[in-house]
Amino acid sequence: MDYKPLSGREFPRFSGIKTFFRLPHVPVDSDYDVGIVGVPYDGGVSYRPGARFAPSKIREMSSLGRGYHWSRQFNIIEKLKIADIGDCPTVPVSQEKTYERMKVFFESLLKLNKKFISIGGDHSTTLPLLRAASKKYGQLRLIHFDAHLDTYPAAWGCEYHHGTFVRHAVNEGLIIPEKSVQIGIRGPLAGNDDLNFVNKHKIMVTTVDDVRNNFSEFLNNLPDFGNDPTFISYDIDCLDPSFAPGTGTPVPGGLTTYESQKILQALKVKNLVGADIVEVCPPFDPAEITSLAAVDTLFELLCIMAESK
Ligand code: MN
Ligand code: MN
Repeated sequence: MDYKPLSGREFPRFSGIKTFFRLPHVPVDSDYDVGIVGVPYDGGVSYRPGARFAPSKIREMSSLGRGYHWSRQFNIIEKLKIADIGDCPTVPVSQEKTYERMKVFFESLLKLNKKFISIGGDHSTTLPLLRAASKKYGQLRLIHFDAHLDTYPAAWGCEYHHGTFVRHAVNEGLIIPEKSVQIGIRGPLAGNDDLNFVNKHKIMVTTVDDVRNNFSEFLNNLPDFGNDPTFISYDIDCLDPSFAPGTGTPVPGGLTTYESQKILQALKVKNLVGADIVEVCPPFDPAEITSLAAVDTLFELLCIMAESK
């Protein structure tokens, strides 16, 4: 199998069946290295719905994607066999059944020794990914881009809404909190006790102030993740709403797409076992710029995987 994108010089980028980066759509058990997979589920949102439409919209916008990285000086397509492996089965009216289907899908994917990047979906879809990945690799180090801490309590009696995955991941022992980092965090919070959980578990919380006060120092002081199994969860609302308006719970005062690129390029991660991009909400995305930012993030994540190949 030749894992090459459809050439934009042969077939115009607006033509053809939409797959991630115009790559081949293959069965899960094919011989690729990294599978890009959609998880179209948004039953965990607390405010604006619509993230269920993100995988298909991001596939469409990724028609503009190209493989050669300017500063890394390599082409991901030459380093990795990357494929679109379709969408994970989901159940729009049941989070419980969605989690069950995600467990089956991702555990079988990991049994085949595949790396994956999941395109959500709201942020409640990350917990089943971390469960499957830690079952295979042991406790993970988490790099979490977000405006929100995602350690919040249950709401309406429901434990697994889109603002809770970090709390569950720590309580279930899926991640090592003191070796994990959150990036892009900002207020307002419901109260200062929202910070109790991250403080108690010693998660490294970095804010937009930390990024902007001295950017090169911030980049230099990021932890070195070495060969430790690491997972990156990228909530698009880490970006400012001027760069990513199409999201479920936008928060002003966020990162620029440029800052996000530079942070992703500065991360020292040699063993990225999986990643996801969540909370892209196409119905609230004028000019499709949020999906475009997601495509660029997806490219940078693939570069991190290619770099260590
Ligand atoms: Mn968020
Ligand atoms: Mn989040």
